[in-house]
Amino acid sequence: MVDPKLRVLISAEKIQIRIRELGAQISRDYPTGQLQLICILKGACFFLTDLARAMQRDVSIDFMGISTYGKGTSSSGEVKVTKDLDISLEGADVLIVEDIVDTGVTLNYLMHLLDQRKPHSIRIAALLDKPERRLRPIHVNYVGFQIPDEFVVGYGLDYAEKYRNLDDICVLDGSS
Ligand code: 5GP
Repeated sequence: MVDPKLRVLISAEKIQIRIRELGAQISRDYPTGQLQLICILKGACFFLTDLARAMQRDVSIDFMGISTYGKGTSSSGEVKVTKDLDISLEGADVLIVEDIVDTGVTLNYLMHLLDQRKPHSIRIAALLDKPERRLRPIHVNYVGFQIPDEFVVGYGLDYAEKYRNLDDICVLDGSS
């Protein structure tokens, strides 16, 4: 896909190398027991499928839909659950798999929500982190890459539902 508005920030190759490192690290950190991965739709779906396959252990997978952004590139600050989990989290070791942490509003809300369901533990894996934009405190246990304050698309991330299927993570110039 050649698009003059797109500038590659993280290549597909670098993404895959980093995900293999994260998968190995997470496997070491959870040597026994069941690990419940929760994929935050839709942006984290590519990350989830590669991360799960990079782990040398059994995992269970479920999906949760959260919406914080409208069709543009700035946050509305509103969080809505658009699809809830199919499973109970009681007593489970839970790893939330998210595409990007920006203001922290989404994950802060989600951590409170899921904590009420009495899991044994909850951690977060996020492929991308934009620490400059943080409004709510959130501890991300596994971070793929820290990136500057730019709007990115590709590898699951969209702009108005476009660009999710790019292999690379790209900056969308002129989007703010
Ligand atoms: P937060 O609540 O941390 O501000 O935002 C998290 C959500 O905002 C992410 O799951 C993602 O959907 C969206 N988001 C934040 N930054 C970007 C970005 O640079 N590109 C895209 N496509 N979505 C973003």
